[in-house]
Amino acid sequence: MEKMKSGNRVAIVTGGARGIGRAIVAAFSAKGIVTVIADIDPEAAEKAAGEVRDSGVDAWSIKVDISRTEQIVQMVTQTVARYGRLDILVNNAGILSSAPYDKVSESEWDHVMDVNLKGNFFASCEALKPMIAQGWGRIIYISSLSGRSGGIGAGPAYVASKAAVIGITRHLARKVARNGITVNAVAPGTTETDILKMYSDEEIAAQKNAILVGRLGKPEEIAATVAFLASDSAAFITGAVIDINGGMYMG
Ligand code: NAD
Repeated sequence: MEKMKSGNRVAIVTGGARGIGRAIVAAFSAKGIVTVIADIDPEAAEKAAGEVRDSGVDAWSIKVDISRTEQIVQMVTQTVARYGRLDILVNNAGILSSAPYDKVSESEWDHVMDVNLKGNFFASCEALKPMIAQGWGRIIYISSLSGRSGGIGAGPAYVASKAAVIGITRHLARKVARNGITVNAVAPGTTETDILKMYSDEEIAAQKNAILVGRLGKPEEIAATVAFLASDSAAFITGAVIDINGGMYMG
């Protein structure tokens, strides 16, 4: 039933070529949702889109640097031109920065903010235009345990960007609730993706040790909650931040 209801829906997943974004694309396409995989890496994005199409559900890839506002406008405009609608936006594209407070440079701070905060804010602003016209929409931010707890391995630029998207989530949720649009965030703990290559084996082991369930998260476990938040069943959830961290932090 869910598959039939969401069959005509169209979702943009930023950073959807790999990791958590790729798992979200898989969870959406399993429900018949058409995905636009918007990623800075066009080869990986097209490979992912091809895999989805091979499974019998439409998917399209588009090269986007989410820190570039003009590319965000094109991402949304081209999606609506191609499919005639945009129902779901997952603001997943993000970069990790571990430089500590006494080492982080101004340029690193600005770059992390441009990708993790500014880009993901303006992507929502663009996506809200067709969603408001349709009277239905779902926006989901991928925050982080770091933005909730102050960060363990992550540096202050990353922590600040991920805390800030929680503020944006709640701000936008207030603005568009009467338009049939929900805005929520998930805050994953340490999850098995390429982003962890920035950490040493010792740092990963220390994080694993602090997780109550005794292991890292899997991208599919984050994607399952995102798919629920994107569904009709989650219509009464907005402005929420859902922790998915194996018990490492209880807010
Ligand atoms: P990842 O590095 O495996 O994947 C990130 C994807 O985003 C890649 O496909 C990359 O090409 C793309 N990307 C990077 N910069 C981009 C840009 N400027 N524009 C468009 N696309 C861009 O990382 P991941 O672990 O899957 O992370 C996904 C999201 O989850 C990020 O926002 C990250 O901060 C967040 N997160 C991850 C973890 C974790 O432990 N893996 C924990 C908490 C939050």
